[in-house]
Amino acid sequence: MKKHNFSAGPSILPQEVMKKAAEAVLEFNGMGLSLLEISHRSPQFVEVMERARSLALELLGLEGKGYQALFLQGGASLEFLMVAYNLLENKAGYLNTGTWSEKAIKEARLFGSVVEIASSKDENFRYIPKGFSVPNDLDYLHLTTNNTIFGTQFREFPNTRVPLVADMSSDIFSRKLDFSRFDLIYAGAQKNMGPAGTTLVVVREDLLGGVSRKIPSMLDYQVHIAKESMYNTPAVFAVYVSLLTLEWLKSQGGISAMEAINEKKARLLYSEIDLNPLFQGYAAEEDRSQMNVTFNLTEPSLKEAFDRMWKEAGISGLNGHRSVGGYRASLYNALPMESVGVLVDVMSDLERKG
Ligand SMILES: *Cc1c(COP(=O)(O)O)cnc(C)c1O
Repeated sequence: MKKHNFSAGPSILPQEVMKKAAEAVLEFNGMGLSLLEISHRSPQFVEVMERARSLALELLGLEGKGYQALFLQGGASLEFLMVAYNLLENKAGYLNTGTWSEKAIKEARLFGSVVEIASSKDENFRYIPKGFSVPNDLDYLHLTTNNTIFGTQFREFPNTRVPLVADMSSDIFSRKLDFSRFDLIYAGAQKNMGPAGTTLVVVREDLLGGVSRKIPSMLDYQVHIAKESMYNTPAVFAVYVSLLTLEWLKSQGGISAMEAINEKKARLLYSEIDLNPLFQGYAAEEDRSQMNVTFNLTEPSLKEAFDRMWKEAGISGLNGHRSVGGYRASLYNALPMESVGVLVDVMSDLERKG
């Protein structure tokens, strides 16, 4: 039986996407060939790449606004350095809201001066910093919109004239935002978009070409744009499954429909955490993530019983990240409301029995 999958990533994808993906592995488009054994230059795959790129822009409301969408490899982690390689000439600003921000900062420091504009490290990243000011002399400001590990999420974005770069790996396509406020967005596919192996990069084209260093081809956004995301062999399977997920998302009513469901899922779980005395949320209330819900037991002695109960209920992937402990329920787009209901029932059962 299919488990209720709360994994933080790689994570749940829609069942119909899994089915179509499996079919394409056996035979793609009636070609008598698997998706995995055709040329990436074949018209059939070129069409997949073109549709994936344009659908990503369409869903984000960025079509015809000077942006390009790319499906690259190397994960969000390679973007930590590609962003700096392509954009950092003198000084960049970073908001430090957790492990992934710290890793992005570490890479950027290899290329120039990096200023930590604000940080929530003092409380092990359980909140989103506010009330800071952003200098005007930065090449860009980088932030992580959703902190997958700690369960915090930006609601408001800094008002700034400098280009805004965002790691949206774990909340892209999950909520309505004015995406045109961002100059570069990147997201590893495996949280909310597809399987591991490809990274979506959405970049405003006129942001590029401004640094004086020479950029190796594979790390140069302009090369990938010129080659329509086919400079080398792309991750064909990961791109195809991402396209299927984006098509599913569109058929569900796009980002605004997704956001409405995601809000309901998060509200249901957070209200159980707040009302049930056996549980306590990790993140500061006003900064709680709609995607990754982090929480702890107030009675550590109940751990064994709780773990047994959720496993028996068919739940998978609920353990917190090793740097936070406790529990983390990831409520990505493809996770059905029903799964959240099952988790909440287990939590209230524990209260009744505990
Ligand atoms: C998972 C994650 C990453 C790392 O992604 P990789 O594709 O494994 O490199 C970076 N940033 C955020 C916010 C993430 O959730």
